[in-house]
Amino acid sequence: MTPRESSDPAPTADAATPPLEQLPTLRVAVLGAGTVGSEVLRLIQQQGKDLAQRIGGRLEVIGVAVRDLERDRGEHVPTELLTADASALVREADLVVELMGGIEPARSLLLEAMAHGASVVTANKALLAQDGAELYEAADEHGVDLYFEAAVAGAIPLVRPVRESLAGDRIQRVLGIVNGTTNYILDAMTRTGASFEDALATAQELGYAEADPTADVQGHDAAAKASILASLAFHTRVRAADVHCEGITAVTAQDIIAAERMGRVIKLLSIVERIEEEAGERVSARVYPALIPENHPLASVSEAFNAVFIEADAAGSLMFYGQGAGGSPTASAVLGDLVSVARARVRGGVGPRESRYAGLDVVPLTELRSAFYLSLTVEDRPGVLAEIAGTLSEYGISISTIHQEPLGAQEEGRGASAHIGISTHRALESAMDAALDRFSTSAAVLSIDSILRIEGD
Ligand code: NAP
Repeated sequence: MTPRESSDPAPTADAATPPLEQLPTLRVAVLGAGTVGSEVLRLIQQQGKDLAQRIGGRLEVIGVAVRDLERDRGEHVPTELLTADASALVREADLVVELMGGIEPARSLLLEAMAHGASVVTANKALLAQDGAELYEAADEHGVDLYFEAAVAGAIPLVRPVRESLAGDRIQRVLGIVNGTTNYILDAMTRTGASFEDALATAQELGYAEADPTADVQGHDAAAKASILASLAFHTRVRAADVHCEGITAVTAQDIIAAERMGRVIKLLSIVERIEEEAGERVSARVYPALIPENHPLASVSEAFNAVFIEADAAGSLMFYGQGAGGSPTASAVLGDLVSVARARVRGGVGPRESRYAGLDVVPLTELRSAFYLSLTVEDRPGVLAEIAGTLSEYGISISTIHQEPLGAQEEGRGASAHIGISTHRALESAMDAALDRFSTSAAVLSIDSILRIEGD
């Protein structure tokens, strides 16, 4: 390459890139200016020129719907754009970004927006998991786009890889940690030995858990994400109600110690998988706390981070890791979607539609096989262990390891007791349910303290 001669013309912008003012304008309505909405507005302001060039059109925010018009929301949420009339706002927009959360009025507003020809972007996992089918149908009917990358694992690209990058592959399993709050709590319990209640209180103080943590700690948030991932991965409609869901409220400090003794840690896992049987295929979607080996890659996912494994026939194993929540990370995913729907608007065409051609049935949990960790308080007398092993064996459950600790006489009038921790080989869930029923009426078993699944081997 020769140095530029002084007579050469000075470098100019790419001739194919028109000046900003010649680009078409896209009218954007933002519904919600909370944690995520305010960050989306900041990024649109700060990166407006770049976004316009990437889209081939300028984003003009025409209004921001909120409940409280009086609250000062900082420099990136201009007061003059605030409105309490979200319905009027969506009717004026080309693109609608829904960041209010909850089912209503978000659902009605998105339907109204699409009926008026707007493409929509949402981060609302609860709404998609419950009413995704209706939203997809509306998008189809009106020829608009429905994007929702931010609804699953915040900043981590998962929806696009599953829906588009792996569209030519056959996904077998998606397994991961998709709720940062519960991961923070379990991680704190593991690091400090704290109880669930104390770890939750710390998470709330530090802003990792909401004042009402129910959706997170009961597993509903993770289940909503599992339903979205299962629907995309298996080309089948899987609703939140189809996902077996157990939260972490029953996980105790003793469970954490038992896991450590077994070389394991406890994580809240979302698992969706293809179940191949002689009669055909079905899918399983479930969320529960499980013991995984300390050397499993998911075991080292700490604090509020998320990580997801995807296993596909041709691609093999893929791992995605990053920030699953927070205003700015989530806004990154929202902006990515906004650029996609805006490009489609400018250049014509629509993005991927719902793919549900496979129509697979969801396997009830009772028909699956799992390995278990079972913690019991029992009478400390000869023959009790044999009785428990006998009951498990009756139901086809074989023991892998057993750990016993005498607890001494706990109450007056009650004999000495012992704690036993049993891990089992894989057995039918329904068989374990039946064995637990028997233990609950057995004189030898004083209490069933925990039942957790073992995964990741
Ligand atoms: P947020 O902080 O509670 O903000 C919600 C915003 O929506 C507020 O500005 C609120 O107005 C407005 N809003 C709520 N109901 C409204 C109504 N009926 N009419 C008009 N405005 C209404 O929520 P967020 O944390 O930003 O979450 C937004 C969405 O993103 C949810 O679907 C959430 O699941 C999803 N998401 C969040 C995260 C995260 O890290 N926060 C991560 C991934 C996905 P006021 O301010 O006036 O109350």
